[in-house]
Amino acid sequence: MPTRSNIEWTEMTWNPVTGCTKISQGCKRCYAERMAKRLTAMGSERYRNGFKVTLHPDLLEVPRRWRQPRVVFVNSMSDLFHEDIPLEYIQRVFATMRECPQHTFQVLTKRSERLAGIAAQISWPRNVWMGVSVEDARVLSRIHDLRTVPAAVRFLSLEPLIGPLDELPLEGIHWVIVGGESGPRARPMRREWVDSIHRQCRGARVPFFFKQWGGVRKDLAGRELHGRTFDEMPQPLRRAA
Ligand code: SF4
Repeated sequence: MPTRSNIEWTEMTWNPVTGCTKISQGCKRCYAERMAKRLTAMGSERYRNGFKVTLHPDLLEVPRRWRQPRVVFVNSMSDLFHEDIPLEYIQRVFATMRECPQHTFQVLTKRSERLAGIAAQISWPRNVWMGVSVEDARVLSRIHDLRTVPAAVRFLSLEPLIGPLDELPLEGIHWVIVGGESGPRARPMRREWVDSIHRQCRGARVPFFFKQWGGVRKDLAGRELHGRTFDEMPQPLRRAA
């Protein structure tokens, strides 16, 4: 079901698909997988397949029922561009988003090749923000794929940041989120990596959102950088606010 989210850069989550498979180092400690296992153990009907990709067509219409404008993270428990999700189903998710212009939808993927490959078969409404996750320089090609997509807002989620990203191709990118891994055995994020990304965003005039330092106790590590928080958002939402 759609739920209020604790994620700092969104308000709600909407999961018309659940389940996924790992694709790169950023998936190593996948939060969605841990949560799915927990929900399966609790007997949740939605997670009867555990973390296997599962479509939930009965949830496709849900955003139409929300009257108040919301910022919605789509598929926090999956990857909408996973190879097991049919194109026709992805198009239905986009149709709902297009028909709910009162909401802002944030879609995030690690399957940037498939995203770029089918982008022309998707109609891109202005209320859909499309992002890719990039955890280190080995997957920088995801940004190049994203830049070919005609979304109104293209964004990067550099989380969990596990390596330096000193040469980000920021042209055509409208928003950058940075965060460290959290939880047991979290891989550390170094301050100089964050500073470098912050400098690059400043230079390219790209809004910078610092989500968290992460670590084993993310509540203790906090989310301040140089004594302040950075909660910058892309232009459309700033205007709406
Ligand atoms: S792509 Fe995302 S949801 Fe899928 S396994 Fe990786 S981290 Fe988890």
